[in-house]
Amino acid sequence: MHQAALFLQKYLFYLLLGVLALNLFQRRYQKLSERKRFATLYLAMLVLSWMILVIVQLHFGWPDWLLVPFTLAPVAVGAVFHRHVFPFRLRCARCGRALEGKRILYYDSNVCERCDPPQAPPPGL
Ligand SMILES: [Zn+2]
Repeated sequence: MHQAALFLQKYLFYLLLGVLALNLFQRRYQKLSERKRFATLYLAMLVLSWMILVIVQLHFGWPDWLLVPFTLAPVAVGAVFHRHVFPFRLRCARCGRALEGKRILYYDSNVCERCDPPQAPPPGL
């Protein structure tokens, strides 16, 4: 179990970096992905809190069984606030077709390109 804590201590950092990098990529779609940008920030906060709990457990040499509640605590917080933390859907909210990766990660609407065609510029401009 001690090795599990060491593994988590080592690789949670990369998970955190990945989530924050995704957040930076979402800035390209700023107007369309405000909810999902906040969701990746909340996810990053949960991963960071998990990382801090694992590091504290290792630093003070606390018993290894504490890893279980320390892992379940961020998961429970994420489950309670799942509407804010995980708004990503794999299927279109209107027609049920599979969404492409760009739509899953960057578009708040969660609908496919067919159901949500790009808006034409207003006439006269
Ligand atoms: Zn659709």
